[in-house]
Order: sequence, then C-alpha cells, then structure tokens
Amino acid sequence: MQTEVKKSGMTHSIGELAKEFELKPGTVYGVLNELGIDHDGSQFEADSDAVELIRESLLEQAGSTEIVLKKGAVTPRTVVNALEVPQPDVQKTLMLKLKTPAQLTTTLKDEIVEKLVESFGYTVRWAEAPKPKPAVSLSAAHKKVSGEQPRPPVVTIMGHVDHGKTSLLDYIRKANVAGKEHGGITQHIGAYQVDLPEGKITFLDTPGHAAFTAMRARGAQVTDIAILVVAADDGIMPQTREAIQHIQNANVPMIVAVNKCDRAEANPDRVLQQLTEFNVIAESYGGQVQTYNVSALTGEGIPALLEGILLQAEIMELKADPKGDLKGSVVEAKMEKGRGPVATLLVMNGTLENGDSVVVGSTFGRIKAMTDYKADRLDAAGPATPVEILGLSDVPQAGDQIEFAKDERTAREIASGRSMNEREAALLPQRSRGMTLSDLRNRMQNDDLKELRLVVKADVQGSVEAVKGMLEKVRNEEVETKVILSGVGGITESDILLASAAEAICVGFNVKPEGKAKIEAERRKVEIRTYTIIYELIEDIEAAVKGMLEPKFEEQHLGTGEVRLKMQFGKKGIIAGCYITEGKITRNSQVRVRRARDLVYEGKVATLKHFKDDVREVTLGMECGITFDNWEAFQEGDIIEAFEMIQVNL
Ligand code: GDP
Repeated sequence: MQTEVKKSGMTHSIGELAKEFELKPGTVYGVLNELGIDHDGSQFEADSDAVELIRESLLEQAGSTEIVLKKGAVTPRTVVNALEVPQPDVQKTLMLKLKTPAQLTTTLKDEIVEKLVESFGYTVRWAEAPKPKPAVSLSAAHKKVSGEQPRPPVVTIMGHVDHGKTSLLDYIRKANVAGKEHGGITQHIGAYQVDLPEGKITFLDTPGHAAFTAMRARGAQVTDIAILVVAADDGIMPQTREAIQHIQNANVPMIVAVNKCDRAEANPDRVLQQLTEFNVIAESYGGQVQTYNVSALTGEGIPALLEGILLQAEIMELKADPKGDLKGSVVEAKMEKGRGPVATLLVMNGTLENGDSVVVGSTFGRIKAMTDYKADRLDAAGPATPVEILGLSDVPQAGDQIEFAKDERTAREIASGRSMNEREAALLPQRSRGMTLSDLRNRMQNDDLKELRLVVKADVQGSVEAVKGMLEKVRNEEVETKVILSGVGGITESDILLASAAEAICVGFNVKPEGKAKIEAERRKVEIRTYTIIYELIEDIEAAVKGMLEPKFEEQHLGTGEVRLKMQFGKKGIIAGCYITEGKITRNSQVRVRRARDLVYEGKVATLKHFKDDVREVTLGMECGITFDNWEAFQEGDIIEAFEMIQVNL
C-alpha cells in the first residue's frame, strides 16, 4: 500500500527543524524540495507520515553545507533566512565583496547568490523544478533520498592509560589486517579497517578521548561505537571515568572490553560491578551493555569482541550511499617533508576519487594521491573508508569536513570564504561556539528548561565529589545545573574541547588550566573559572543560575501628583502643571492618570520640569511641569500615579 505525502496537515516550522538537526534552514529547503513539499521559507504543511519522512531525510543531511534555493527567486532576505546569518553581514558582503549593493527584497542574479552563499562557507544547489503537484508516494521518495547500503561501523577505543588500548588495536590489526602479501607492514594513518567474514569494521587508532572530543568540538561525530578498555587487574581508574563521561555525553553506544584477563590478578567481575556505579550496566547484570573479557596479549576473547561490534552495528542499521553526496571528516593531518600537507580522511557518505577537487575545512586542493593504511594506492574510497590524501593546500584540523567542489578554482574560493569567516569569528566573541557565564542568558533564552553545563576538575577525588554534589543542587524552577564531566587533575585541552562541544563552562577547584588548555579556551571562548574556596565557587554558580532566569519585574509605587493647571509651553505643546502630594515622580517613571475612578492614560513621563529646568525627580510638596508620552488630553484635577518596574529576581 502506498501512503501519500499530503500537503494538508499540521503547520511545521522550518527554523525549529533546522535547529533540531543542526542544519541551516536552506538545507531543510532542499529536503522539502526533494519530497515535493511546498514551503514559504519559514513554514510548511505536512501530515505525520510526511513529517517522519522529512525527519529521516534530515538525519541524512548531518553536516551538510548545501543550501537549496530556487533559481531566479532569491533576495538578500532569502539568504538571511536560509543561512540564519545577520542581515547586515549579508548586505555588507554584497556591497563590499561582491560590489552589488541590494535592497533586502531585490531579486539577485544567480551567480551573485552563489558567491554570496559561498562567502558564508556554504554552497548553493539549485532546486530542481517542483515535482508534479499531486505529491510523491512515500516509497518513491524513499528511493530518491536513499541509494543507501549498510556501511561498516566506525569504532574508537578509550580507557585509562596502560590499560591496553594500543595493544588491543595492534592485536586486532595484526590478526586481521596485514595480509601475508604485505609482510605485516602497515602504516599509521590514524585509522584502519578490518575485513572479517561477517563484515568490516573501521577503527580510529588514535586511542583516548582527546581525538574523539576534538572531532566532536568541530561538529564531526564520526564514531559510531566506543570501546571502553578496562584492565581486569586495575579496575576503574580516573581516565576510565572520564572516558565513560565522554562516551555518555556523545550518546555513543558503548562496549566494554575487560582487558588483561590473562593475568593472575585479573578480576573481571569486579570491573563489571564497579561499572554499575557509572550507570554502565553489563548484560550479565541485567543491563544493555555488551562486555567481553579479553587479552590483548594472547588474543583471547578478541574475536568475540569483534563479533559484538558487528552485532551492535547491525542493530544501529548504519547506512550510507556510495553514490550520494560526499561527506567525510579529517581524522588527523600533518605537514610532511617532501609530501606537503597529508591528511587522513574518513569518508562517511559518497565516494572520494583521485583527481577530485575538494574543500576541507578552510583548506582546498585536488586529490593527487590516496593510500590506505596498508600503504596501497586507491583510486576511490567509499563510506567508512579511511584514506590518506595528498594535494591539499594546507594542513586541515581533525574534525574538519570534506566536500566536493566543481573545480580547483571553486574549491579555492569556498575555502578562502571559510577562512575569512573563521578569522571573523575569532574577532567576534559573540559568534564563537564557546560559552561564558555572561552570555548564557542570551544563548538559552529560547529553551524552556535551561541547563547550565559544567566540567568540574579538582585536586583530589574527595573534592571532586564534594563540588559535584553541591553544584548539582544549585537549581531553581527554570534552570538546572548539569555536571557533564568531573575528574581529578588540572584542566586539560580535552576538557576544553568537551566544554566547547557541549557549550559548558570549566570549573577548577584547587587546580589550574594546563598551558595548552588555556590557549584552546581562549581560542574557543570557553570560560574557565578556578577557585580555592568551595563556597565562592558555589556562590558564583548560584549567581549565574539566577542570571539565567527570565527577568521578573514587579511594579513599585513611587508617588502621586495632581494636575493643577494646563499650560502652553513654548511651541512644543501643552504641559501639565502638577503638585506632588505624596512620594515622588521621576523622569523615568511610568504613570497612570486617573480622572475620578477612570483610568485615562497609562504610559511614561516624557519630560519633567521644575520651573524651567529639566529635573530627574520631584518630591512631596514640589510643583513641576510634566508632559506625557503621546498624550496631552489631561485635565485639571487628574491624579497621576507614578511607578517603576523593578526586577525582583536579581
Ligand atoms: P595504553 O596506554 O592503554 O595504550 O596501553 P598499552 O597498550 O600501551 O599497554 C600497557 C602495558 O600493558 C604494556 O606493557 C602492554 O604490554 C601491557 N598489556 C596490554 N594488554 C595486555 C594484556 O591483555 N595482558 C597483559 N598481560 N598485558 C597487557
């Protein structure tokens, strides 16, 4: 049976959908266009089936920088809405960069639109002619948006130092990768792929959460599954805790590898028991988390672990379209003598081919050579394939996204637009991704429940627990605090990256930021607050939470006056000659004017004079001249009540 996408149904907001999927409204236009659903740039109508389909398609657009617009119908206002950029920025770019000043509603030439959009780091895809009116069928639409096939999972290994992350990665690589023909030679490119009879798995082989978080901070979530390695003889250690928090924060499914089970002192059951404290509940404890007892030394349990990964991947139904739009992220990158910038990319959708012109973050180039981790040359790389590429103009950063460009020249233009945007962003703190206590309020104004997220580091575990416990109690009816990561030790670069990704604030108790952390925090505008007295810390956060409240105002009575006469005052108009009978009236007062019982005016004082002088206030027993904002119809005997609105929840 075919379900039809009806045009009738509820009205939905494009802006809200865009926000939810972290896309620009212009990208949402593309999906709507693809499905033949009409919209007016901010809203569309659709029934629940259609909305489901739209949401599915939006999910596939993650990280997309493509904006879909209709040829010959784009005005500066369209671009402002599609990209959610400030209107003055659009007009400035038009005027200064493109030398095409235009009114907000002037239709722009298509080439200008392309350049304008590109200068904000996005590309235009022109909408195809609208689909035949009656609507598309669901199944047809499915075909259109997905030439999808299952893709291998991308796996990151995390855990405490010395618990065997590297050994595990090495064992898996040696046992499954290096075919005899390669004589066991592999190169470290930051990621590798194993090919098992049951399927492929891509491992990111920079263990630890620094790389993982660095990528997240740049908006790239490439990891599908995280393996938490815990040594069976050592149990949960500080970095294990941190890794758990990072994984839980990123909402990535976790599989636990209890390592070093070959050791006599190994006590895997104790590890599983300890994990329950962190809400990581093993299947054997009635939970959902797969756990495997392994040894990276003997290889025991590793085949089962790999099977478990594939099982988890199957549940997740990971899919990609090798013929679809190119999506991918930089895993690592460096400058190499004689080779120039070298970057490892993980293609997540589409296929990257030798000779392609690409934009990677704010760098660009033509792919001169691609190799895999076995140092084999490749002509093409499909989804979940890690490849090392040569040919970029500069070294990109981990987490930068890759996309096609028509040719090298276009690639250069897009990239230079991006680096300009990056420089501008660096100059404009309010547009950066980080968070400071003072800008929390603006950032969260539109959410119903507000959350102040915190990363907490302290000198000893006891203080971590104490600070965390106290902070989590700081809340009121509108704002909650949430400690997204806590741990022992100085504030590290990876803490800052997490804070940046999660828009959190870093709080240190008896610890300081490490050198690199400071630089990163400045760059990303993440606020670091350090304390040595716990109550100061709590007081500050309490203040921040209060500051995040919607301001609440209450009326406070100031005084009363009586209109004694109406006077002509110069050419300006008539003024009320008044006598203050109680309290005071100030220049900034709001007023109500009553005649007998009737309210005849409510508004503001416009001018307040004492004889000929403008004054700030007049008090009991004084005479004064008052004019009101937009109102002159006062009469002798009118009573003026002055009041002001004051914020009561400061
Ligand atoms: P990483 O810091 O987590 O990457 O840990 P490594 O892989 O460097 O391992 C730390 C140490 O533990 C090394 O000396 C390894 O040889 C040893 N090791 C790792 N896995 C095992 C294991 O399964 N059994 C035993 N007995 N030793 C292991």
